[in-house]
Amino acid sequence: MSITVCTARLSYGGPGRLDITRSNALEHRNAGEVANGEVFAPDVDLFRAVRTGRMVVDLYLERYREQLERANHSIVKACLEGLYGDPLVGVCFCAPRVRVLTCHRTVWREFMVSQGAIDGRELPEEEQGPVRRVKPSRQGRLF
Ligand SMILES: [Zn+2]
Repeated sequence: MSITVCTARLSYGGPGRLDITRSNALEHRNAGEVANGEVFAPDVDLFRAVRTGRMVVDLYLERYREQLERANHSIVKACLEGLYGDPLVGVCFCAPRVRVLTCHRTVWREFMVSQGAIDGRELPEEEQGPVRRVKPSRQGRLF
């Protein structure tokens, strides 16, 4: 049996939601929640480098892909076994329009598919919840 992996923006509030943002990982942990998605959040240094413009987006996504390859295998396995939900929906801040080439959740989904999950693609707009205003980063992109 394989689980299906999907992606959506942060406002998605349905089943299988897995927050994979760096910004929220600490918040979840401080709230005493088990931050399962934290293992898939971009490394702090990587995240800072791209947010401050010290690293171009392509390189950032390549480094993030490498990070996923090194990710805690037991958590990846637990995800693939459906312990965190099926479908599993990786969420981050990016709105659909800026998401296409610059967003790590697509890279995450591709990685999970490479590990045996079924590609459920980006959820349809109407299933993603209301669009919230998020302050853009200095580069004008969101991660
Ligand atoms: Zn993103």
